[in-house]
Amino acid sequence: MKITIVYDNEANPGLKSGWGFSCLIEAKEKILFDTGDSGKKLIYNMKQLNIEPKDIGKVAISHNHWDHTGGLKEFLKLNNNAKVFHPKSFSKPTEIFPGVHSTGALGGLIKEQSLIVNTEKGNLVITGCAHPGLAKIIDKAKQLGEIYAVLGGFHGFSKLEKLQGIKLIAPCHCTKYKQEIKQRYPAQFREIKAGDIIEI
Ligand SMILES: [Zn+2]
Ligand SMILES: [Zn+2]
Repeated sequence: MKITIVYDNEANPGLKSGWGFSCLIEAKEKILFDTGDSGKKLIYNMKQLNIEPKDIGKVAISHNHWDHTGGLKEFLKLNNNAKVFHPKSFSKPTEIFPGVHSTGALGGLIKEQSLIVNTEKGNLVITGCAHPGLAKIIDKAKQLGEIYAVLGGFHGFSKLEKLQGIKLIAPCHCTKYKQEIKQRYPAQFREIKAGDIIEI
């Protein structure tokens, strides 16, 4: 199971950075999670990372904010067969692809879904902005089994004790307390930006 960070506020040399998030999940099939804020930069980064849009059959959008949906139009121009899954599609945890669950739409005004990907080591939780609160997302995900890793935008999440026991913590994008997370969980913390690959 491989995750490639395609889009983030920070990028490795040779890639574009931009406010937003997108990653490619390569599990039983290829799923693009979120699309960053700019289609131009998204497609540029995909090219640099040798990711072919036509090979990606499914797109899951975490929530309807421009920094997660901005590149969708441009992506669909290159692959108009891709199936798009919006958070409103699911009201409760559902297996949306083999081995990949949606938490279902969580939160109040801003409905957001996170993904839970089965890996050999336990579940990987991937968040967009975590507007519903990462603590709430973690609780939901735990219903499906042990969490091995959490990755994505954590927003203003500050109940750091909730991360106890998680083996891999990779906050990016909008995460406010990245440094505090790193200090509290130095061995579990992993810095990620566009171009980084995580294999579990
Ligand atoms: Zn965001
Ligand atoms: Zn947002």
